[in-house]
Amino acid sequence: MRLSVPFAGRFRLLGRLDLFLERFPGYFRAKYETDLSRESIVVVTLDSLRFDVAQQAETPNIRKLFQASAADGWIKVGSHGTYTLPSHISMFHAGIFPCDNRPDIPPPYNREKEKLFKAQLAWERTTGARFPTPAAPNIVRGFERLGYRTVGVGGVHWFNDSFITSDLWKKQYFREFHWQEDFSETCNRAFENQINRIKELRLHREKRPVFFFLNVAATHTPYMGFGKSLTGQKKALEYVDSLVPELLDVLPGRFLMLLLSDHGECFGEDGLWGHSFYHPSIMEVPFACLEYQKNRWLSERGRP
Ligand SMILES: [Zn+2]
Repeated sequence: MRLSVPFAGRFRLLGRLDLFLERFPGYFRAKYETDLSRESIVVVTLDSLRFDVAQQAETPNIRKLFQASAADGWIKVGSHGTYTLPSHISMFHAGIFPCDNRPDIPPPYNREKEKLFKAQLAWERTTGARFPTPAAPNIVRGFERLGYRTVGVGGVHWFNDSFITSDLWKKQYFREFHWQEDFSETCNRAFENQINRIKELRLHREKRPVFFFLNVAATHTPYMGFGKSLTGQKKALEYVDSLVPELLDVLPGRFLMLLLSDHGECFGEDGLWGHSFYHPSIMEVPFACLEYQKNRWLSERGRP
């Protein structure tokens, strides 16, 4: 008896075979002709940080980091969420980071020109991203399938992995996830505590490529007690900046860093305070994408 498979059926079978084979890194790299999938990626979200605060604060270490990485500095882009959860879901589920697609905005901030990441979607499997990932529940799991060590360190309470509405990062995204109360906005030493935990993770000694995420709560209200104002958030960011060298010391020696805010904040504009609602001060956020190399950073850091 001759087995007959209709054309459409054959196409579906090939698609399923392709999905299966994509689980094997060798097949994946050959298919997408990529060798970039060995580069570590570090995503740092400075929670609630406004664009104007990022620009105006005295942040000499971040400035030197930009110089050492030939980065353009802060670019103003549009967030995909008015508060922490939707903004981070957009980034880590679909790979859709804040962007501005107007023609004068350069890649990768302009997603029409370049996508850093893109999940394979049911209606659009092709990725066309700088970092293609195989079919997976989300891009973090996709990097895991490529052999990455995936690690997250939460800050604000949306990352409390002991509570059922915020344990998704540990259960569905990162293989290793760390959160504790003194990483959050309730603790004035949260950023130092996070750096101490990261040091214990020994990422700087890791042989595998790393997909690492850090949410910094210091810039979230109450701004380490500096006051609910632009000045208060500026001082909180300046504190974060003072510890940037310590953070870089405990990260891998080379990586692509995405430094950005998940959403902004209102300080009385149009009578509004805080976030979780629409306002340009909330939707417009700072974003910097930079190629970090330890030796370049150390030489820039040593300059007066
Ligand atoms: Zn947030």
